[in-house]
Amino acid sequence: METSDVIVIGAGFAGLTAARELSRSGYTTMLLEAKDRIAGRTHLAERLSRNLELGGTWVHWTQPYVWAEMGRYGIKALPGPEFTKALWTVDGQRHEGTAESLMELLDGPNRLLLADSRRYFPMPWSPLDNPDVADIDGLTLSEAIERLELPDDQRRLLRSFWTLNFNGRLDQAAYTQALRWCAVASGDWQLMFEACASFKIDGGTRRLAEAILVDSTAELRLNQRVASIDQDGQQVLVTTEAGKQYAARQLILALPLSVLNDIDIQPALSPGKREAAARGQAGRGAKLWVKVDGRQERFVAFGPESAALNFVQAEYIDHDTTTLVCFGPDAGAVDVQDVAAAQAHLDAIVPGLTVLDVAGHDWVADEHARSTWPMHYTGYLTRYLAELQRSEGRIRLAGSDFANGWGGFIDGAIESGLDAARHAASALGNGATSPLQAPASVG
Ligand SMILES: Cc1cc2nc3c(=O)[nH]c(=O)nc-3n(C[C@H](O)[C@H](O)[C@H](O)COP(=O)(O)OP(=O)(O)OC[C@H]3O[C@@H](n4cnc5c(N)ncnc54)[C@H](O)[C@@H]3O)c2cc1C
Repeated sequence: METSDVIVIGAGFAGLTAARELSRSGYTTMLLEAKDRIAGRTHLAERLSRNLELGGTWVHWTQPYVWAEMGRYGIKALPGPEFTKALWTVDGQRHEGTAESLMELLDGPNRLLLADSRRYFPMPWSPLDNPDVADIDGLTLSEAIERLELPDDQRRLLRSFWTLNFNGRLDQAAYTQALRWCAVASGDWQLMFEACASFKIDGGTRRLAEAILVDSTAELRLNQRVASIDQDGQQVLVTTEAGKQYAARQLILALPLSVLNDIDIQPALSPGKREAAARGQAGRGAKLWVKVDGRQERFVAFGPESAALNFVQAEYIDHDTTTLVCFGPDAGAVDVQDVAAAQAHLDAIVPGLTVLDVAGHDWVADEHARSTWPMHYTGYLTRYLAELQRSEGRIRLAGSDFANGWGGFIDGAIESGLDAARHAASALGNGATSPLQAPASVG
């Protein structure tokens, strides 16, 4: 059995960050990852003859944690394309205009929907310190939109826009999550949307993940799917599916909420944590890359909220092909390998394109993710978040699912990883088993 001061389970951005912080503070740190790669729900992979982000992608300077990490490692942000054309389908009718005209159409309804974001979240970064939130945390986003009594075309477009943002259905999605997103973007929905889909990491998410890993002295072990965790007054004992055991004094469980109950934890985590994990997250949709024939115009397109792919964006325009990034609310409706199915889905919202190939990863079927970006169901904030953030003995959760600020984003994962590392270090005190490593001297 191998022993260390701390074990971090999960090498996504939360786990990588926590492992770097603790190992750089002199604590011996074991980082266990089930997959054969790091970076979790981000995955830069070579597909369709280029490097494509199959998971998390976009970052923004309003996201302080990821932005600081990029600055720390000298990694720049790359602006995305400017769109010239917009298409949207409402009530079976196709409309076409400029990207600005689409934004104008979305502007009024979003302002109405999100007008109270700073009223409910005057302290956006302390979601639990906003007392009025309890009044509305049971309200679904679907109900909140219907209450606006918008003209039908605006209502449908707004629903499709938020189906995209939730990567899931609106009928159980928390209205508070939409308000939170807007609040952390200073109450400005256009800034919020820009933060979601405008700037990418130069070199991709893998580059940032590797920079954090290289900066860490944690011992990384890949292909270590953790099956059980036992804690007692002395230590925490981790056993992998293959039967290998690791022991430590502190444990950070940096896993997606939706997979938490797959691990046999003794004594069991609190009923609140297990109930939240059983419910999981509302982000259970699809992200699909589609290569189509010809050099297409830079367009964005919204379909109906119920479409298998309800949003399409021309991301890479090459000499004789165009690569589109597409999203849909139900992973079960999109086969990320099926070219013919992708053709049918695209025909429904952007007719006239010829699909050549497709690529993607089914994150909902992935047993180590079971969700895409963490978007909450109703009641998550008031019923579960505080409990999920509470340590139990030697165990603390970390991850984007449990973040205070940009929960659902890479930023939230880093924020939560830092927080978990601080708690673990404080519990460990100065009793690190290895001497503190002095930073390399300068000059
Ligand atoms: C399709 C998609 C698009 C997204 N778009 C964006 C975006 O544009 N911008 C943005 O900021 N965010 C985006 N996100 C969200 C972002 O990627 C995540 O919020 C963030 O990466 C989560 O990091 P994490 O460390 O909390 O969890 P994860 O990245 O999920 O890391 C958890 C790790 O735990 C491992 N693990 C699971 N079970 C076990 C086990 N039993 N034993 C050992 N290890 C285990 C997993 O393999 C994984 O590596 C997107 C996500 C997806 C899926």
